[in-house]
Parts: sequence; structure tokens; C-alpha cells
Amino acid sequence: MKLEKFIRPNIIALAPYSTARDEYQGGEIATFLDANESPYESDLNRYPDPHQKLIRQKLSEIKGVATDQIFIGNGSDEPIDIIYRVFCRPSIDNVVMIAPTYGMYKVSAAINDIEVREVSLDATFALSAEKVLSATDKNTKAIFLCSPNNPSANLLCRDEVEKIVKSFEGIVVIDEAYVDFCEGYRSFIYDLASYDNVIVLQTLSKAWGLAGVRFGMAFASPEIVRIMNKVKYPYNINSLTQTRVMEELNRESEIKEQCREIIAERKKLTEEFQKIEQIEKVYHSDANFVLIKIANPNKLYNYLVDNKVIVRNRNSIKLCEGCLRITVGTEEENINLLKLMNSYEW
Ligand SMILES: *Cc1c(COP(=O)(O)O)cnc(C)c1O
Repeated sequence: MKLEKFIRPNIIALAPYSTARDEYQGGEIATFLDANESPYESDLNRYPDPHQKLIRQKLSEIKGVATDQIFIGNGSDEPIDIIYRVFCRPSIDNVVMIAPTYGMYKVSAAINDIEVREVSLDATFALSAEKVLSATDKNTKAIFLCSPNNPSANLLCRDEVEKIVKSFEGIVVIDEAYVDFCEGYRSFIYDLASYDNVIVLQTLSKAWGLAGVRFGMAFASPEIVRIMNKVKYPYNINSLTQTRVMEELNRESEIKEQCREIIAERKKLTEEFQKIEQIEKVYHSDANFVLIKIANPNKLYNYLVDNKVIVRNRNSIKLCEGCLRITVGTEEENINLLKLMNSYEW
């Protein structure tokens, strides 16, 4: 793919802000009088590393991809927004996305004045590459896929995703926020060398238990990562976050164990939901939540709220009519939820 063809001309021409830390690349021991910082040393008086070198090194080891294939943002929200700002000309270009899917793609498109073309999944939430591809035209710059998909919880069929990646001349975003909860799935981060038009999104907000720090990752070709870095705020990841994330990334084995527990709890919840005859449908989940379909979701939702259990009501979303999305909690929380549902007057 000839990448320049898909980048907004103003972004190609953009000379990024050059930080003091870009200009001096030497070691730590020096007198820094170059950034108008306070000279009174504390753990926060210096600007953070704009390139997040230590973290990208660590992530490179954990993920098995090169450091220059990793972009780091303030949550996944930042790479999503930057993808629009890099590739899509406001009020001219469009993007295609599946429906239902994660709401942020559409909000970010609206903020950037980009037309959204939605392609419905089928009733089983399966993806049709043909339908997605036929929604594109010469101004389609990106296709957003989410796998496992939120709120439908299922992994998208790999063959269909690959068909899209191979046939589409433009960026294919594959959001893998829930990748840690699908055993046996091969992440697209390992195929970046074959697919230079793919941007994989991952996050520390779900399996890693760090939603509060706001840390999202985009994995792509070095060329794409370079251009995204050019557009981000220079110091988008603050020092507190960088320090904390470096510590947390040492907990990989513990996180893997927690994921196994969540997957076991998901299985239990699914089986228990299936025993409740008033639940019309319990959708298969490859994520850390379960989607159920019932006759009167608002009534159950309100009952749970009254009992201080909050789930996500997805009833108003197309193809999710009647659906509640329930995050897998701790064993204790799940038992409490099931108790409430079993004593509910359907
Ligand atoms: C939760 C979620 C994210 C994570 O967003 P952050 O901004 O990284 O917290 C990304 N994509 C999807 C589909 C999600 O459900």
C-alpha cells in the first residue's frame, strides 16, 4: 500500500513540535537548562519522555513486536481520534464500521466531521466482508472492526477480517481491547509485517485492570506509527502514568491468572443464565462480559439498580433490542447477581 495516498496532505507536510528532549539525546547526568523547567528536583519537575522509550521497550518484550511498531496514547480514545486526524479529510472522507460496535468510533468521527457508514452484522453478530467492502468508495479511508466486538462479545471470523484487510486499499483498524479474554486467538499484531494497512488497538483498561490510568496502544507498521507520533501531543503520557505502567507491566503472569479466572467465571455465568428460562438468549462471549436477551430489559435493569447492581442496558441499540450487557465480576459479585436474578419476578 502506498501510505502517502491515504494521509491528509497537511499531515504529510506537518513539521512536528520538537521538544527540548528531542534536541538533546545524551545521558541522564547533566544540568538541564533547556526546557524552562523548575530546577528544584522532585520526581515530577521534568517533562516526561515524549517517546515513552522504556515502556515501549517493555511492551516490545511482552508483545513480541518491534518498538517502532508501537504507538502509545491516552486510552484507546487517543489513537482512535488520531487515526481520523491523520487519514480523513473533514467533510470529504468517510469511514466504514460494523454495527453494533463500540460507540467511540462514531463520536470521534462526528468530532472530526467524518461521515460514518455502518454495516450491520447479521442476527448472530457475524461479519460479512463482502457487505463491508461494498460500503466503501474512493473516499473511504478506514474500516473499523472490533474483535471481540463490544457489545456483541464475539470474535469476528478471521477469514472475513483477512478478506477485508487484503482487499481494502486503506486503513483497517482492528480493535482488540478484549484480546486477553479469548484463548487460542492469534492477535493481528503478529501479522503486521504481512499487512501494512492494519492498525491494531489494545488497551490496559480491561485485562490489565488499569482503566484509571488511561493507557491505550496502537500497533502498526513503523511508517504508520511514525505519522501518528507526529500528530499526538508531545507529552501525551504523563510521568505518573509512565512510572506506574512500568511497574504494572511486571505483573504479566498475575494478569494472565486473573484472565483465566474471569474466563472460568464467564463460563459459569453463561451456564447459569442458560438455566433461567426467561432469558431468551445468552450470546457466546469471547470477552469479559456476557450479553443476554430478554423480553423486558428495562424492568430487569431497574430491578438490578434498585439492588445496587449496575449493568449496561443496550436495549436501544440496533440488533441489541432486549439486551443487557453484563460484565463478569468476582466470584462473589457473580453469585450475588445470580441470586438477584433467580429471585426476580420475571
Ligand atoms: C473498553 C474498550 C476500549 C478501551 O478504551 P480505553 O480508552 O483504552 O479505556 C477500547 N475499545 C473497545 C471496543 C472497548 O470496549
